[in-house]
Amino acid sequence: MEVMAGFREWVDDLLGLVYPRLCAACGSAQPLGGHCLCLRCEWDLPRTDFHRIADNTMSRRLTGRFPLEGAAAMFYFLKDSPVQQLLHRIKYQGQSQAAHDLGRFYGRELMECRPFDEANAIIPVPLHPRRQHFRGFNQSAWFGKGLSSVMEIPLLEDRLVRTKATLTQTSMSRSERLDNMKDAFRLKSRKGLAGQHILLVDDVMTTGATLEACALSLLTVPGVRISLVTLAIARD
Ligand SMILES: [Zn+2]
Repeated sequence: MEVMAGFREWVDDLLGLVYPRLCAACGSAQPLGGHCLCLRCEWDLPRTDFHRIADNTMSRRLTGRFPLEGAAAMFYFLKDSPVQQLLHRIKYQGQSQAAHDLGRFYGRELMECRPFDEANAIIPVPLHPRRQHFRGFNQSAWFGKGLSSVMEIPLLEDRLVRTKATLTQTSMSRSERLDNMKDAFRLKSRKGLAGQHILLVDDVMTTGATLEACALSLLTVPGVRISLVTLAIARD
């Protein structure tokens, strides 16, 4: 895995000489060594450090809703910020590779922290098949692939399916979001899930309605434990 990653970075560096790759957050500076962020953004983007703090904003937002082992987001998401631009580039400008890079970066940190180091499977929040077809990829799955490659635990992309094309939730209240998410996901296969500690992975958490709906589906399998990992969390 690491040999392949080294080779990919080498190819990226070589391509970068011909087609300079720009930072996925600020879009101007050039990252070094195959990273998706420039040095300044790597330094400046607002990190949460939730993986080191068990009682954090993310886990508190979900208290009492379903059994949760741990919850961590890489960045704080603020409107009109470089993190919003980063997420926008990943989702709408096809920068799936940036999501993968961030997964590899964050995976190394998660491996050092409980309970994330005990997880043994990764499941990304699925897109509705129609949305996935239009976009061409699922950004959460690419983030999950990055995590999977460094944490050396399998990414299970085919267990959970989205059966309802949910509306965009940006302007909805918490109860409207929960209603929107009702029956939105179905467990297609339980194969290999019993007794597993699953990292459920998404791009941005706002109220947590999407993650809650997915977690409730997965928790119907005996012995399943859930931890959450997202690229970003929207501030209250
Ligand atoms: Zn930058």
